[in-house]
Order: sequence, then C-alpha cells, then structure tokens
Amino acid sequence: MQRRTYDVVVVGAGIVGSATAYHLARAGQRVALLDRSGIAAEASDAGAGMLTPLAEAGASDLSAPLLRLGLAGLRHYERLEAQLESETGMWAGLVHLPTLYPAFDDGQAEALRRDLAALQSLRPELRWLEADEVRQREPLLAPSVRGAILSPAEGNLAIGHLTRLLVRGAQLHGAELLIPRNALALLWDGARVQGVLTEEDPIEARHVVLATGAWSSAWSDRDQQAGVVYPLKGQLLALRPSGQPLRHTIYAGPLGYLVPKADSSVFVGATSERRGFDKTPTAGGLIQLLEVVQRVAPALKEASVERTWAGLRPVSVDGLPFIGEAPSSPGLWLAVGHGRVGAITGPVTGFIIAELIQGRPVPYELDLRPFAPERLGTWRRRLTPLSTAGAGDRQLELFSRPAEASQTVAQEDQADRRERP
Ligand SMILES: Cc1cc2nc3c(=O)[nH]c(=O)nc-3n(C[C@H](O)[C@H](O)[C@H](O)COP(=O)(O)OP(=O)(O)OC[C@H]3O[C@@H](n4cnc5c(N)ncnc54)[C@H](O)[C@@H]3O)c2cc1C
Repeated sequence: MQRRTYDVVVVGAGIVGSATAYHLARAGQRVALLDRSGIAAEASDAGAGMLTPLAEAGASDLSAPLLRLGLAGLRHYERLEAQLESETGMWAGLVHLPTLYPAFDDGQAEALRRDLAALQSLRPELRWLEADEVRQREPLLAPSVRGAILSPAEGNLAIGHLTRLLVRGAQLHGAELLIPRNALALLWDGARVQGVLTEEDPIEARHVVLATGAWSSAWSDRDQQAGVVYPLKGQLLALRPSGQPLRHTIYAGPLGYLVPKADSSVFVGATSERRGFDKTPTAGGLIQLLEVVQRVAPALKEASVERTWAGLRPVSVDGLPFIGEAPSSPGLWLAVGHGRVGAITGPVTGFIIAELIQGRPVPYELDLRPFAPERLGTWRRRLTPLSTAGAGDRQLELFSRPAEASQTVAQEDQADRRERP
C-alpha cells in the first residue's frame, strides 16, 4: 500500500476545506485535499451564496462574533477575488449587485430605520431609500413596499463555482486532490494527531483539518443525540424572469429572499428544516418558496421555473462555527459549523486556519475565542495509537478501531447512505 505524507491533510472539499487547501498550498505547504463525494458535492453547491453578513447577523449586537467574522469575510473577498482571477484566469464567481432590505409595512420600515442607524457605524455606505426610489430601482418588487435599506457592497456568489476554482488554485500551487476518499478516523502518535485513515489508505500529515460540513459530528466525542453539528435542510427554487432581470438581492427577513445570479436567473430561498440527511425537494417546500415570490416580487410569477433542489447547512448547536486547533489534540484543526453563512465566512475561515498553521497571528484582528473548537467537547475519535508499534513496522491493522467505535461509525455511515437520495 502506498504511504502518503503531507504537511496538512484537509478533509472535505466544500468551500471551507477548499479555501483552506488553497491558502495553505499558496503559502508553500504540502497539502492533500480529500473528499468522499467530490468537489462542492454538498452544501457548497447548494447554497444561495448571498454575501450578506448584515442580514444574517442583524443589528442588535454589533460586536456579535458572527457579524465580525462575516465582515472579515467580505474584506477577505476583496483580495481573494483579484488574487484567484489573476492566478487562474477565470471569473471567481462574485456577482456585484447590491442588496435591498425592503419593508412591506410601517412597523417593518421603522425597525429597519433603527437598524440602519446602528449598522451605519460599521458600514457607512448603507442608506435608506423611500418607497418611490425603491420601486424605481427595483421594479419587480411588490408595489406595497414602504422603503428599503440599500447595501451597495453586499453582493452574491456562485458558491459551487468559487469552490471549484479554489481547488484549481490549490492544485496550481501544488496541492493534491484525493477524490473519492472517505476519511474514517484520525491517526495518532501519542497525544498528537498524525494523519487520517481513509477507506483506501492511511494519509500521514503533521496537521489534519476537518472541514466536513454537516457530517462533522461523526468526529466529535460529545455524547448527545442531535450532534454538535447538525444538518439543516434548505430548499431553493431557480426562476428565469421572462422580462427585465432582478437588479438586487432582495432580503425580506423571515419572508425569504431572492438572489439574482450572473446568468440572470433568480434563486428563491429558503426553507429551514430538521430532516436528518434527507435532501429531497418537497411540495411543501415549493409552496413556501412560491409564497416568497407572491409576497415579495409578484411580477416574477411570469418567470419560468428552472429547477428546485435542497442542501444541508452544517449548523452547530450554539450557532457558531468551530475554528482553530483543538487544544487537547495538537495537530487537529476544526473548520466546521458555518451554518447559514458559509459562503460569507468559508474563505476567510480557510485563510485563518492557514495563517495559524504557519504560526502567524489571527488575521483581520478577529477574536477567535467564541469559535473555540473544544467549547462543547473534544474531537478525538481515537484509534489504536501508532506509537504502540515501531516506526518501521507500522501495519494497517494498527489503525483499526476499537470494536465499539468501529460499530458506531459503520452504523452512522450506513444511516447516512440510507438517508441520501
Ligand atoms: C439552501 C441553502 C442556502 C444557503 N444560503 C447561503 C447564503 O446565502 N449565504 C451563505 O453565506 N451561506 C449560505 N448557505 C450555507 C453555505 O452553503 C454552507 O455554510 C457552506 O457551503 C458549508 O460549507 P462546508 O465546506 O462547511 O460544507 P460542505 O460544502 O457540505 O462540504 C463538506 C464536505 O465534506 C465532505 N465529507 C464529510 N465527511 C467526510 C469524510 N468522512 N471523508 C471525506 N469527505 C467528507 C462532504 O462530502 C462534503 O463535500 C446556504 C446553504 C444552503 C443549504
């Protein structure tokens, strides 16, 4: 069996893992990026790709960790876009159309104006548009609109495209893509992580980054039913307007949102459902999405329906991602649980992990304490340690799990497969 050794092995080729691999490879690290399904095979090809940290985090607490991370995410995109495009010669996937936060009654308008006053301290470019101006700028909006916040710098992203481009960028810098590879367990040398065991072969590395999205609980030691990261199903609908295109992302709070894409299609989203790992679009989901069209932009009723689909947001039980090295397991890094904001915060997370692995300070003056990897428990999933054998005669058998753990993983893998459409 071929033995592979790297500086870093990244498990999961979604937007988070691909960004991590890209930034590390660009910095000269020997990187392997592996995924059992493919590049952007899960949430990172399913998401709506809104780059709207203000929408997701709100104005109630301007120091909220997710808002700070999201704003750092936007700053990071400014440089990543230019960098990737010059390195690959391809469009990075960013759609630079502004976002509108519309109000459809007086109470909403008042609440939005209050939010605006607070948010302008962070983003001075935000401004209020009266109803007439909103209708003029975005004729597809419902005529009942009472005004809107205009956010010029919050655009959107072709998330699957960017993820694939990050992998291409990583490969240009020498990263190896190992697909399909199903990572089963961590390899250990005493207390230090030393790589991962995949179904195909062991892969040794000084650092292992878990970027395993909604499947991350399989690596957690926390003993609870929901898992420390759980899948939150989101259904989306793509429409193609028959007349004029939508000119803004429309974020209508709890009602839902409309996202204009580079090819002029419009994504309508999204449901939030706890359905395990099921990704089947349903009639009920479609009704909910058509309701968004009806209430927010009824002019789109003439649009043709292109497709419906669903993906699984990787949501952590306390709502915050896990970012950084696990203190009790040196060499093990977590980059999981980005929930609804992985398009915004995925690439900056990859950059943060890459900087920290190289011993550099946390970028963008971020406070990472709220994202501490072990705040809810450890991530070990320990195999029989490598150190029980002499370095020269390590055999695959040494990596096999204790019987009980093997059974748990086998059962979970089986359950995953059963639940996947
Ligand atoms: C409907 C919907 C709408 C969304 N809208 C937005 C939005 O507007 N804005 C925004 O910022 N975010 C949005 N998101 C969230 C965003 O898409 C996700 O947070 C992000 O894609 C998560 O990326 P990830 O890399 O963590 O996970 P994923 O993309 O799911 O990648 C995880 C990868 O790990 C692999 N993997 C798992 N376990 C193993 C293993 N043992 N071995 C090998 N490989 C493994 C999987 O195959 C998968 O490819 C949305 C998500 C959904 C579903």
